[in-house]
Amino acid sequence: MRKALVIGNWKMNGRQDANEALLNALTSGYDNKLERVDVALCPPSVYLAQAQSLLQAGSIELGAQNVCADVEGAFTGEVSAGMLAEFGCRWVVIGHSERRSLYGETDAQVAEKAKRVLDAGMTPVVCVGETLEERESGLALQRVQSQLRAVLEEVPVEHLAELVVAYEPVWAIGTGLTATPEQAQEVHRALRDTLAAQQVELDEKVRILYGGSVNAANADALFAQPDIDGGLIGGASLKADDFLAICRAAAGES
Ligand code: PEP
Repeated sequence: MRKALVIGNWKMNGRQDANEALLNALTSGYDNKLERVDVALCPPSVYLAQAQSLLQAGSIELGAQNVCADVEGAFTGEVSAGMLAEFGCRWVVIGHSERRSLYGETDAQVAEKAKRVLDAGMTPVVCVGETLEERESGLALQRVQSQLRAVLEEVPVEHLAELVVAYEPVWAIGTGLTATPEQAQEVHRALRDTLAAQQVELDEKVRILYGGSVNAANADALFAQPDIDGGLIGGASLKADDFLAICRAAAGES
């Protein structure tokens, strides 16, 4: 049985005063029923210390939105996996489509990042997703499976089951367009086939999240799909009530 997981990706949003208000609202709205779900937030790296201190007493965990593919050294502007671990991160999002499209991240770099994250004792959340053009050309499954395979082939076999995968159709991120539950389920099933082909029973162990304009109204139907284990949430993670409602949906409590 895979435990549900909901991760909030704040992207490049936040200010110390607004973060404090949001984190306090989330911790006070969090109740025991949410223990059934792993819940994490990924603020911008500069706010990790603030978030770590405000979240320390509760059950909401901390993650990061990106990591450097190198361990340390002359990489101006980058943040290493070791640094993220020092600030209490358990999860690290890698290969987000904004990183791939705006900063040219390749499948090979995403695979390197996965290894750095695992070496530092954290969990990589590997994002995959097709563009609208790829979907309309019937290439969606092929695209996401090859993005996933690029990571699976590089990660040491004993660590494969620790991965989390996030299916995020590029056309649904921040656009208000959401994949239908059936469209998402089809892709999640195909990703499980890729996991199973890599290692026996890996498909049953790895959590696969859906991301792309998830909100309080559509979360229930998405999370009811058998192969969707939770969500990677952008915009709605900036509003405490919406994010908590999504977490409750993942816990089967809405
Ligand atoms: C994301 O940034 O990973 C995301 C899914 O964003 P949104 O929920 O805003 O579409």
